[in-house]
Amino acid sequence: MSRPFNFSAGPATLPFEVLEQAAAEMLDWRGSGVSVMEMSHRSREFVSICEEAEQDLRDLLAVPASFKILFMQGGALAQNAVVPMNLIGRSRSQTADFVLSGSWSVKSHAEASRYGNAHIAASSVGERPSRLADPYQWRLSQEASYVHICSNETIDGVEFQQLPDLLALGCDAPLVIDCSSHIASRAVDWSRVGVAYAGAQKNIGPAGLTLVFVREDLLDHALPICPSVFNYRTVADHGSMYNTPPTYAIYIAGLVFRWLKHQTESQSSGIAAIEARNIAKASLLYDYIDASGFYRNDVDKTCRSRMNVPFFMADSSLDDQFLKEAHRAGLQQLKGHKSVGGLRASLYNAMPLTGVKALIEHMRDFEARHG
Ligand code: PMP
Repeated sequence: MSRPFNFSAGPATLPFEVLEQAAAEMLDWRGSGVSVMEMSHRSREFVSICEEAEQDLRDLLAVPASFKILFMQGGALAQNAVVPMNLIGRSRSQTADFVLSGSWSVKSHAEASRYGNAHIAASSVGERPSRLADPYQWRLSQEASYVHICSNETIDGVEFQQLPDLLALGCDAPLVIDCSSHIASRAVDWSRVGVAYAGAQKNIGPAGLTLVFVREDLLDHALPICPSVFNYRTVADHGSMYNTPPTYAIYIAGLVFRWLKHQTESQSSGIAAIEARNIAKASLLYDYIDASGFYRNDVDKTCRSRMNVPFFMADSSLDDQFLKEAHRAGLQQLKGHKSVGGLRASLYNAMPLTGVKALIEHMRDFEARHG
């Protein structure tokens, strides 16, 4: 069965094998007689699905035992409120520091300011080429409750290639990362992280599931206004089943984790093997764009995203034709985000190298006719 290559930023393409397995198990999950969607979240079957998914994710990303993994709802945008409600009370001044690097970190800062003092420690928003502020130039608060970054800006295509080492910067506040659009695409240095959160609908599975990794010492600081379903301690103590979790989304995420583990089985390096593949895919596209003269990417080479590649043609009136022809060639969802225009290719784990090659072929062909 031939399917188009889907470059959507999210909800995004899923591994074909995962969709196939989900289809085969749709009506009767492994002899249980029911679909996963119809199971009680407290049933033995579903609890095993959930536990296996969590363990596979823990193995894959080498998440230390000192972190709880929470399966929550509300998406990454809910976390923009949930994080301050859980953490901003850590310091007497109720201050959190924000590093602004694009649209999503700007949103996180705005939402947090409803719950405490949201201080801008650095901003590179609007600079061309897009880049990240040097951590040594960040103006961190004396007693911050936490420091927030968006480790991959999905719209702007800007990615931290290394997480900042706050301790080396003289700051002992926990680092909070919105890693929605590059989770499971690369290794994570957990020694530098306090909380990581991600909506699932890019690299993990269906929309509706939000992954939250919380260091255990950060579970007990929620403000009294924090709803119980969003209180990290409550969710952790109930194994993510304080209320009904998004069961089907967890099941699909579990299949994706299995698929990722299977991809790396022959290599002992696990996530490093996935990361190497992502580097190869992104390099191929960036190298082509840089060499072309017809297309351009506006992000400084030190912080180009491996997952989301925004690109532009000098004559933006050609965008629609590019998209129409791409669609005919089986290349879908390449339109840039409406706030920046142009084009964007998202190259999540499930996008094969052949998809990137097909995109470059289309770009080359389009340039030959319009360049
Ligand atoms: N943060 C980032 C980095 C994102 O890419 C997105 C979604 N595109 C969001 C936050 C918002 O996520 P959600 O729609 O799951 O709330």
